[in-house]
Amino acid sequence: MAELLVVGSVALDSIRTPFGEAADVLGGSATYFAYAASFFTQVRLVAVVGADFPGSHLDLLARRRVDLAGLQVSSGETFRWAGEYGYDLNEAKTVDTRLGVFADFRPALPSHFRTTPFLFLANIDPELQLDVLRKVERPKLIALDTMNFWIQGKREALQRVLAEVDAVVINDTEARMLAQEPNLIKAARAILGYGPKTVVVKRGEYGALMATDGRFFFAPAFPLESVFDPTGAGDTFAGGFMGCLARAGTMDEASFRRAIVYGSVMASFTVEDFSLSRLLRLEASEIEERYRGFREMMHFEH
Ligand code: AMP
Repeated sequence: MAELLVVGSVALDSIRTPFGEAADVLGGSATYFAYAASFFTQVRLVAVVGADFPGSHLDLLARRRVDLAGLQVSSGETFRWAGEYGYDLNEAKTVDTRLGVFADFRPALPSHFRTTPFLFLANIDPELQLDVLRKVERPKLIALDTMNFWIQGKREALQRVLAEVDAVVINDTEARMLAQEPNLIKAARAILGYGPKTVVVKRGEYGALMATDGRFFFAPAFPLESVFDPTGAGDTFAGGFMGCLARAGTMDEASFRRAIVYGSVMASFTVEDFSLSRLLRLEASEIEERYRGFREMMHFEH
């Protein structure tokens, strides 16, 4: 089992879906990622929160043995994101993004974080992703996520960080936007051209696809009858994906495929409730049970 480092947002989210709403609840790309990955391996987190951030939220991560030595608490406001969804839960509409303490955050990495073998640059300012990349010894595997906000606002920095990562884990709308290409297969190929050897495209209820040099792998999403709030599904997917790879410590094609399925398993829990609520009640045995469900669902005879 290898350690896994994540840098990304720790946030307070205000969400509206057709099924309900919640204000100032625990969210953030690094939060979902770290919580999900903690079921697989030892996670180290780099982020910043404001003085207004409830300590009880940090206890939730600490209880999962997430190493919070890289989490700074600054005077000022925690990152806040407000989003809403229509009946098509695949498409989040950003209502408001307030960077707060992230606006002038400079990550300080504790010395034991610098040699972490697996690194995930979760959705956050690509300048911060680069900053963390500069402060670590080259990990065995570096993966990155991003979103429209940064593709539109910081494309140049994003292109620089893309050139240095091994894998990109990104949603379909953002893959199209990043590559400026409507066809998803062409978009994935274009992103491979930016540097990474692997591109994983998350497609919400349509599952995920992985493109490597000349090869594709597709996994469906778990067929759920009730999807309550898709927020964090992508980050949870990434947490399951990277957590699974770090636990195995191997990076062959079979390991990547298994990791995609574990990513899909983890995401399928997150969407069942608001914020991290479903993850907080999740048992390791449920993860394995749903993984077996995936194997059965995807099996067919030659
Ligand atoms: P997703 O997995 O794509 O649904 O990500 C949702 C999470 O991303 C929310 O909990 C937000 O706090 C966080 N988020 C939204 N916008 C940004 C942004 N521009 N940078 C970093 N994190 C963000």
